[in-house]
Amino acid sequence: MAYVFPVYNEAGNIELLHRTVCHVTGALADRYDFTFTYVDDGSKDDSASCLQALADADHRVTVIELARNFGHQTAVTAGLDLVDADAVIIMDSDLQDPPQVSLELITRWQQGYEVVYAQRRSRRDTTFKKFTASVFYWVLRKIASVDIPRDTGDFRLLDRKVVEELRKFRERDRFLRGLVSYIGFRQTGVLFDRDERHAGTTGYPLSKMLRLAADGLLGFSVTPLRLISRLGYGISLLSFLGILYTAGVKVLAPETAVPGWAFTAIAMFFLGGVQITMQGVLGSYIGRTYAEALGRPLYTVSSVRTAVDQSTPVKTVLDRSVQSSDRSLNR
Ligand code: UDP
Ligand code: MG
Repeated sequence: MAYVFPVYNEAGNIELLHRTVCHVTGALADRYDFTFTYVDDGSKDDSASCLQALADADHRVTVIELARNFGHQTAVTAGLDLVDADAVIIMDSDLQDPPQVSLELITRWQQGYEVVYAQRRSRRDTTFKKFTASVFYWVLRKIASVDIPRDTGDFRLLDRKVVEELRKFRERDRFLRGLVSYIGFRQTGVLFDRDERHAGTTGYPLSKMLRLAADGLLGFSVTPLRLISRLGYGISLLSFLGILYTAGVKVLAPETAVPGWAFTAIAMFFLGGVQITMQGVLGSYIGRTYAEALGRPLYTVSSVRTAVDQSTPVKTVLDRSVQSSDRSLNR
């Protein structure tokens, strides 16, 4: 059982976090070997020396130091790439995700779920953050091609199988919770109340939040590109309404018709409409190119079952499925 903590300028939290997590996991220490992986995402404060102290004091601690700040999602990815455990729990390092809740995640995992996400029942953040988050999740759920549960962050437990599948997804602009939904497997949620950050300031200023939102929306939906076509159709329709209107004026009340107006107005709407529609056509190709460029594996496999007495051993089947997804990676 491994914990992964992304760390960016959390010097004031690391010690308490580790103490709390050790305390909480103590209850299960006889059943599982716990390891704690801290990924230092290019912190500029004393986090690095705090983490070094932890590693010196506790042999279960691994510290991964990234060479610069790559961002939260990449830091978590680095941790997931390097841990080796039957299940991995991802948690923020500012104590906003209560360590106690991770035990509930483990309980659900024991019941056979491969992804257990912690879902916020309430959160103690600024009104602005709550508002922007709820708008984001609303839009995301409307347009995303996968069902991403609302009010979940990256606080979750992933079974080894899911982590192995996740490692095949090498796209750069990552939105991990979307990828986890995309991967599938048996998923469930546990409700919790999100605490306030213990010490320090958020590493997610508005600019990073907008980026994450864009990665979520663009990575899981081509609806924004489709909107171009719809806008084009709408404007073209206006030009036809304009034609009907001016024809009506010419026939029913010719004395009020302004010379030249009809041509200008209709040409404007018509050309505008044609141009935007054509952009929409380009957009649909770009959307496909984008999806191909992401190079995601075509599918994720949860298990391969074969009849016991047949000639192909299960291992060969498994190897083959791994090879085929490797090929899709190298494409
Ligand atoms: N974090 C990170 N790299 C960054 C920003 C944040 O690894 O560039 C970590 C941070 O240390 C914390 C988690 O990601 O463990 C969530 O960040 P934060 O608490 O600042 O975000 P918020 O809770 O305000 O959304
Ligand atoms: Mg936080």
